[in-house]
Parts: sequence; C-alpha cells; structure tokens
Amino acid sequence: MDSADMGIDLWIRCLGNDSLLQPLWDNLRINYRDYLRFPLFPIVLTVSSYFVFCLPFLFCDIMGEKWALVHQFKIQPGRGPTASTLLHCAGVTFYNHMFLVLPASVAQWVWRPPLDLPDQAPSLLELTAGVIGNLLLFDFQYFIWHLLHHKIRWLYVTFHAIHHNYSSPFALATQCLGGWELVTVGFWTTLNPVVLRCHLLTTWTFMVVHVYVSIEDHCGYDFPWSTSRLIPLSIYGGPSKHDVHHQKPNTNFAPHFSHWDKIFGTHADFSFSTPRQIHYNCIR
Ligand SMILES: [Zn+2]
Ligand SMILES: [Zn+2]
Repeated sequence: MDSADMGIDLWIRCLGNDSLLQPLWDNLRINYRDYLRFPLFPIVLTVSSYFVFCLPFLFCDIMGEKWALVHQFKIQPGRGPTASTLLHCAGVTFYNHMFLVLPASVAQWVWRPPLDLPDQAPSLLELTAGVIGNLLLFDFQYFIWHLLHHKIRWLYVTFHAIHHNYSSPFALATQCLGGWELVTVGFWTTLNPVVLRCHLLTTWTFMVVHVYVSIEDHCGYDFPWSTSRLIPLSIYGGPSKHDVHHQKPNTNFAPHFSHWDKIFGTHADFSFSTPRQIHYNCIR
C-alpha cells in the first residue's frame, strides 16, 4: 500500500470512527452545558462567527491596493468598498439583527423548551455527511428563492434589490439583505438540521460552516485556498461564481454549488478576458 492509499485508508477509518468526537462532545456538554442549552446560543454562535470571519476580509479591503500580495487575488481589482459602503452595510446588518433577528430569537426562547444534550457524539462521517447534506438542501432552497426574486420584478424590487446595490461584492455585503431575505435564510438554516435529524454538534458545525462559505462567496477575493479551488471538478461555485452573479445578475443563482445553474442553463464562469458588465437593474 503506497502513502496515498494509506492516507485514504486512515481518512476513511477516521470518518467511520464513532468515538473520535466523543471527548470533544463530553467536554462541551459537561463543562458548558448551561451555555449550550441556552435558547439564544445558536444566534450568538452565528452572529459572532459572522463578525470573526468578516474581520480578515475587512482588513484586506481596508488595505486595498497597498497590500499587493493580497490584492493580486482581488476578483475585480481596484473596485474595493469605500468607507461609506462599509458603513452602509454595517448599518443594515445592525438594523436587521436588532429589529428582526433579536426579536425572533427572543420569541423562540419563549416557546421552545430547553434542548436536551444527548450523551453520544456523532461520528465524523455522520457530522461530515450532515454538514454537506444541509449545504446541499439550502443550496436548492435558495436557488429557487433567488431565481424567483430575480424573475418576478415585484419580488426583486421589494426584497432582493438591496443586496445588488454593490456589483463588486465584499465580505460585509453578505448580510446587507432585506429583512424578508434574512428571515427566510435564517428559517431554512434553523429548520433544515431538524428535518435532516442532525445531532446538535452537526447542526452547530453546519451553521458556522454556512456563515463562512456565505462570507467567502462575497469576499471579493479568489484565494488559492478558496473552497471552489479545494473542491475539484467545478462542483462548488465559491467567490468567483457569486461575484459573476453581482456583475451579471441573471446568472449563477445557486449560492454554493454549481449543479442547479448548470441544469437550468444559468451557469456563467468568471473570465478575466471578458469585459466586465455591470448591471444595476437585473430585470431583463
Ligand atoms: Zn450576493
Ligand atoms: Zn441576486
């Protein structure tokens, strides 16, 4: 058996090992039980992840062309956000969280009983499959939602247009959304792990991964470690694909994977040789 086969064999055995995550889960449920059972824990987890993941990209945006080492990976060079666009997105995000996310979370706190933490941790295979399953399900739901909100003018103008204020995305634009869109995204992110009967550790991992890939989609940089470059065969869209959606809004409706856009004929690749087309009104 060569070293590549040994590596694959080790990875398969790790994935199927039921007890690999047990020490981590035991540590969490024994030492942080009250925090984990707190009804607002998922909200605190996702909101804090959002700002932590945004910070490095925000720093890249502020440095801009002065940081040539990073700027070489900018998808639309020279089209970074200004201070006023960053402030606008920060303001929209703050407003949405204060007046939508927080009241919805408190309402959920009132009616939802405290969660029971199971003794058994998921296997690594179960956790990985759960995260991928949730991403695929969300990708399908958002693809349909997104397509409808571009094809039906009233839906676009009323709910989705705010997200297309910027044709050159940046990390803080990720949650520069209308309230309806944020509520819908939050609803699926919360409901899907329940429908797929995921372990709580899988659910929280999915939520954090989902926050990261959503920010990465909007970061405006196509780094060598972008998810789309790590996953082969163009299965995953990533930042360059979603950047095209902000430039050519009738393409690339799926948020993460490529297959739905390929099936529906709305897939478009980013090409640096193609003149950049900026559309502020996507209805054609
Ligand atoms: Zn977007
Ligand atoms: Zn859109």
